[in-house]
Amino acid sequence: MSEVNKGPLAGQRALVTGANSGIGAAVARGLAMAGAKVVINYVVNEPDAIKLVNEIEKSGGQAMALYADVSNESDVQSMFSGMIEAWGSIDILVNNAGIQRDAPFVDMTLSQWNKVMEVNLTGQFLCTREAAREFARRGVVPELSCAAGKVVCMSSVHEVIPWAGHVNYAASKGGVMMFMQSVAQELAHLKIRVNGIAPGAIRTPINRNAWETPEAEASLLKLIPYERIGEPADIAKATVWLASDQSDYVTGATLFIDGGMTLYPGFREGG
Ligand code: NAD
Repeated sequence: MSEVNKGPLAGQRALVTGANSGIGAAVARGLAMAGAKVVINYVVNEPDAIKLVNEIEKSGGQAMALYADVSNESDVQSMFSGMIEAWGSIDILVNNAGIQRDAPFVDMTLSQWNKVMEVNLTGQFLCTREAAREFARRGVVPELSCAAGKVVCMSSVHEVIPWAGHVNYAASKGGVMMFMQSVAQELAHLKIRVNGIAPGAIRTPINRNAWETPEAEASLLKLIPYERIGEPADIAKATVWLASDQSDYVTGATLFIDGGMTLYPGFREGG
């Protein structure tokens, strides 16, 4: 038996949205190395999704790529039925897909506002609803997990830190927090666990301009007491834990993975 088959998620089936880039790709690798079969959802750049599937399979894992725009109801429903048809069910959902459409508040267009809400918040609603329906239908399978299903919602430190110039993004992530907690409260009796991860600054394409020059990186590091930028693998390790029975008594929680960004670093010397 390979190492993958003995991992904490052995036999479980996971779906990661926006998994062909950045944090989503690292999370998909992490879940696969922990033994889960993983759906790599993508909306653009299919070749990157296929490349990741091949990489996971080469390491002894199992994966498949499925297209869906997470903000489109029929796309999401087709993706879930494709997964359930192929693998029988779903055990783990990671709502990772997210975008920014930044603008000064007075110049922000309705389309910039709506697009961010649709992907970052409505996308989590549509995917979580499909997963929850299947978790509730199937119930607990004790050989696989103590829970009937696990959902991890990718939020951001901006669920609590206001962010000028990014009002749509911060509002969407504040929404993700209350969405996650309310669904966790409603579904706990079905043994469905729902948790959030709030990453700080993680080195991915979404925030390239914040780390790609030495000047930008130095300015970013002033906000991070732990004095390093996060890597996608930092988020992947925590996601595996939240998806596994190691965290069985955890639901409705947000795990901040931010090198201390939410510790008000300006108060180290002031106050
Ligand atoms: P990224 O841009 O590398 O990845 C985002 C992914 O979402 C991409 O694969 C993209 O194609 C996908 N996506 C966008 N719209 C989609 C749609 N409609 N349907 C399906 N997929 C869609 O950025 P990332 O940093 O890896 O971001 C992943 C998540 O982490 C996002 O929710 C983001 O808000 C959150 N986050 C990132 C950071 C950071 O510092 N990188 C910090 C806090 C939170």
